[in-house]
Amino acid sequence: MKLYEGVKIDAHAHIGEFGGWANVACDPDELLALMRLHNVERSCVFYWDNAMVHRAAVEHPRKITGIVWPDPRQRGARDLVHRALTDWHFKGVKLHPLIHAFLPNDEIVYPIMEEARKARVPVLIHSGHPPFSLPWSIGELAENFRDVTIVMLHMGHGHGVYIQAALSVAKRYDNVYLETSGMPMHTKIKEAVEVIGEERVMYGSDVPFHDPGVEIARVCASGLSQAQLEKVFYANAKEVLRL
Ligand SMILES: [Zn+2]
Repeated sequence: MKLYEGVKIDAHAHIGEFGGWANVACDPDELLALMRLHNVERSCVFYWDNAMVHRAAVEHPRKITGIVWPDPRQRGARDLVHRALTDWHFKGVKLHPLIHAFLPNDEIVYPIMEEARKARVPVLIHSGHPPFSLPWSIGELAENFRDVTIVMLHMGHGHGVYIQAALSVAKRYDNVYLETSGMPMHTKIKEAVEVIGEERVMYGSDVPFHDPGVEIARVCASGLSQAQLEKVFYANAKEVLRL
């Protein structure tokens, strides 16, 4: 396997501390060091402390792009999203249905989808864990918001059945894109490109949960052509997130 050495965009990275079972953390300097090491031009960064992400994006405008991460059940979630997408120039919305305990197609999500639609930004949704973040449920949301781009983070994550479901949901709904982080099967990255097209699969690392070196290697091992790797590692995220 040959590693892709071209410049990359990371569609999924974090700063901040994730305690509890995860026990991982990353500050902006550590993220920037990883980006230098792996030739990453820009990272899309989200954390539940959105003000912290805003500060990092203001400090490193050419390296860090903010993605707003609301809890849809909280009063003021819509206002937070609106402010981040307008005043702060964030480029997308992240939802984590498992952490915040809601189904992706629950009506509480709709005001946030409407803000994303107005701002013409994608909604990035964690996938792969029952009961709240399964690909089929994300598909129901995609069906109700056909004009909003949804990036299914982890493309089903660690479970083969969910990975397969991620591919079939993305095949059914052309507003669904797949992001590769934390998904163990390199073969499924090539399969995704073949099933849904080379424009709709993008690289993400999920730093600090995963190491970019490992995540990059898996994409490279999948057997994509050089031109396809250029799309997955760079062009697709640039286009979808309007970077
Ligand atoms: Zn993540």
